[in-house]
Amino acid sequence: MNMPDITEEHVDLFYQKLKQGVESSGYHLNPDVEFTKELLKSILINQNRYKYGACPCRLASGVKEEDLDIICPCDYRDPDLEDYGSCYCGLYVSGEILSGERQLTSIPERRPGPDDRKKPKKVQGDLPATLSLPVWRCRVCGYLCAREDPPETCPICKVGKERFERFI
Ligand SMILES: [Zn+2]
Repeated sequence: MNMPDITEEHVDLFYQKLKQGVESSGYHLNPDVEFTKELLKSILINQNRYKYGACPCRLASGVKEEDLDIICPCDYRDPDLEDYGSCYCGLYVSGEILSGERQLTSIPERRPGPDDRKKPKKVQGDLPATLSLPVWRCRVCGYLCAREDPPETCPICKVGKERFERFI
């Protein structure tokens, strides 16, 4: 099958759009523009190859349902930003890294192995009897909402509905 080539224009456009969205939601892309564009190019290649923008630094399975946690921005971005000042790939960095107050280090893989990912997560504590609506949690930013179905798009971090999990 012939894949459309990813051109520099595609990458530039993606970069501009992403940067705008990212900065307006309080995140930062890596200030090394060349490096960042290389990562974005890999995401676009994955998008073409798998039909979802899997993390450029991890091996995708090709099955979207198995890889929802590593569609960029991955579920592990925020904890890694918190602990290491950068996401696993170095695409997103913290304000401290940006200002030079903190140095980039290598980041251990936080993603659980395939067997552990399949285990259903335990819901903590008993359910309040008065709660009539299910609570949904955005796996990327942690946003919670109580409603029949998860929102089409997370109002905080803008990822799609498929990135929500049932919280309660
Ligand atoms: Zn979110």
